Amino acid sequence: MKFTLPELPYAKNALEPVISEKTIEFHHGKHHQAYITNLNNQIAGTKFENFSLETIIKEADGGIFNNAAQVWNHTFYFEQFSSQVGGAPTGVLAQAINEKFGSFDAFKTEFTGAGVSIFGSGWIWLVKNNEGKLEIVKESNAGNPLTKGLKPILTFDVWEHAYYLDYQNRRPDHLSALWNIIDWAKVNTRF
Ligand code: MN
Repeated sequence: MKFTLPELPYAKNALEPVISEKTIEFHHGKHHQAYITNLNNQIAGTKFENFSLETIIKEADGGIFNNAAQVWNHTFYFEQFSSQVGGAPTGVLAQAINEKFGSFDAFKTEFTGAGVSIFGSGWIWLVKNNEGKLEIVKESNAGNPLTKGLKPILTFDVWEHAYYLDYQNRRPDHLSALWNIIDWAKVNTRF
């Protein structure tokens, strides 16, 4: 098996009550694992077997793209959280957010709203473009901004499996609560 499930950088109950231990068990232990298992099975015996995950995302399509992107997206997603840290970005990322969105609060409102507005499953991304400026990008299904030459900074998963056990249909409540567990020290390093 080429790709393996990354361990979480926190305990499974560390993000409660924003994300429950049960949701982590399914989302990380079952869904993320399934994308990895499917990817390993699908690339076996193909040219993609020797490619990095990023190269597979940029060059594959169909099922291999879907599983590779979901592996990358979930690893990136789970790494950005920490136990009840909340807070705000600092340094150059904070400056770029203020420059683009006016304030941190205005950015949070726009980002959450964009996630709420995605029809069906997908991901909402904060990215850095080729000019070093921030953009909010909406992607359906497994969509990943690496395919557009954009650098991911932050992402919220709006697939129902990310929140249905804890929030049922209340996607806006789930996305709003995620701001309380963002590890900005980690996110700052991605800019
Ligand atoms: Mn997910």
